[in-house]
This record gives sequence, C-alpha cells and structure tokens, in this order.
Amino acid sequence: MVRAEQVHKSFGRTEVLKGIDLEVRSGEVMCVIGPSGSGKSTFLRCINHLEKIDAGRLWVNGHLVGYREKGGKLYELRDREVSAQRREIGMVFQRFNLFPHMTALGNVMEAPLRVKKEPKAAAREKALALLERVGLGDKCDNYPGQLSGGQQQRVAIARALAMEPRLMLFDEPTSALDPELVGEVLDVMKSLALDGMTMIVVTHEIGFAREVGDSLVFMDDGVVVEKGVPREVLNDPSHPRTQDFLSKVL
Ligand code: ATP
Ligand code: MG
Repeated sequence: MVRAEQVHKSFGRTEVLKGIDLEVRSGEVMCVIGPSGSGKSTFLRCINHLEKIDAGRLWVNGHLVGYREKGGKLYELRDREVSAQRREIGMVFQRFNLFPHMTALGNVMEAPLRVKKEPKAAAREKALALLERVGLGDKCDNYPGQLSGGQQQRVAIARALAMEPRLMLFDEPTSALDPELVGEVLDVMKSLALDGMTMIVVTHEIGFAREVGDSLVFMDDGVVVEKGVPREVLNDPSHPRTQDFLSKVL
C-alpha cells in the first residue's frame, strides 16, 4: 500500500530525510516514534503531497506519489492528477484544524460536497453515520468551539473518513489533548484499525503502538534506525539510539 525507497528530503541545506526505506501493507498499522526533529512529520507530509521528495521513490496504492514514470524517466503529475491521488489519503494532525464557522456535521460534509460534488442528502447521511461511528451522534450541530479537544479530534477523523480514503495518516493526533481525552481518540483509531484501515501513526502513545501497531518504526535524524514487531522493538530494542529514546519515554 505504501512503499518508500531511499526517500530523501532537504530544506535548503538541511537534509531532513536521509534515505527512508519502509513498507506498509494493505490493512496494516505502522506506528512511528522518534525524537523531535527526526523527520516524522516530514515523511507523512511527503506521502500526502504536502512536500516533494528530492530523491528516491514513494508509492501509494501502486502509484508513484506526484510523478509518472515513463521509459525510465519521471514526469511531474498535473494538479488534477495530484488531487486525485490525495483523495485516497486522509490525514489527521495534532491541531484539529476544523472549520470554526461550521458545525461538526458541516465539517464532515464539506469535502464530499465541494470536492466530490456529492448530492447534499447523501453527503449528510454519510456524515451522520460517520459522526455516529466516532461517538458523536449527539454533537452533530455543535460548532468546534462547543466541543472538547477530544471531540474535535474525533470530528477531524470523521471528516478525513468522509472522503473514503484508502490510507489514513495520523501525526501525533493526541499530543495536543488533555490526558483524560486521549483515550477516546485512541479508541476511535483502534476501531478503525480493527476495521482494516491502512494507517501510519506518528505517536508518543507507546501503549497504542504496542497494542494496535502491526509494526513499529523508530526514526532518528532522518533515518529509520529500527523497525519490527512493536512488542519486540519495545521490549528488546537492538540499537543503542532506540534504547536511549525508549528509556526516556517509557
Ligand atoms: P516533532 O516530533 O517535533 O514533530 P518531527 O520528527 O515531526 O518532529 P519534522 O517536523 O519532520 O520533525 O522536522 C524535521 C526537521 O525538518 C526539523 O529540523 C525541522 O526544523 C525541519 N523542517 C521541517 N519543515 C521544514 C520547512 N518547511 N522548512 C525548513 N525546515 C523544515
Ligand atoms: Mg512532527
């Protein structure tokens, strides 16, 4: 579903991704941990077309991200083609970024209406079902300002799901939440994983990674230092940098 081969990304003279090789199969949940500045968000942003890679190859659903390959050469995709690729990917950020002037229902309906041109009644029905699914069936008419952080983040997840993505990217979705609200968001993510969604989750929630993750990646300084079955990486990290990081967060 997602494959990275020697992905490089620099900002100016700072090399942030220094040759990332990773694979996530359909239906798998990959969790990514690592210190601040190690390139975790940049990697997700590359997958979601928010940044362009400088070298290497990145595939989602069998498509090269942002490019078409022909006769061994790469050609940049047109905006329309990029939009089509992005539609297959949902992303949830640390900050919920909901539209403040729209209700929860309005937020979830927005992209299907505007981007997919779905009929209003169908978009509304789907949005109601999604809000129900994230446990907010009774909050459809609330504005973001009338919802807790955990509820807003669940709306953000429903909003991403409304586009029927084949891949969900989560960038520290619970880091901005008060501790008592973290669980309700992780529960929604867990149920999504159980439903078979392919997910890449950057998180500090080691318990979630251990329980829900099919694989765990430790990134440091723009490289994948270690990857494997979460329980094994967490219980018996083989690299000193992983050991050092885990000793600080566990
Ligand atoms: P955190 O855990 O703090 O979220 P991260 O692992 O997500 O960290 P990134 O946000 O990917 O790290 O950033 C990696 C490096 O790239 C950092 O040094 C950051 O300053 C730099 N960086 C990220 N985006 C840009 C940008 N648009 N322009 C310049 N430098 C950037
Ligand atoms: Mg980040």
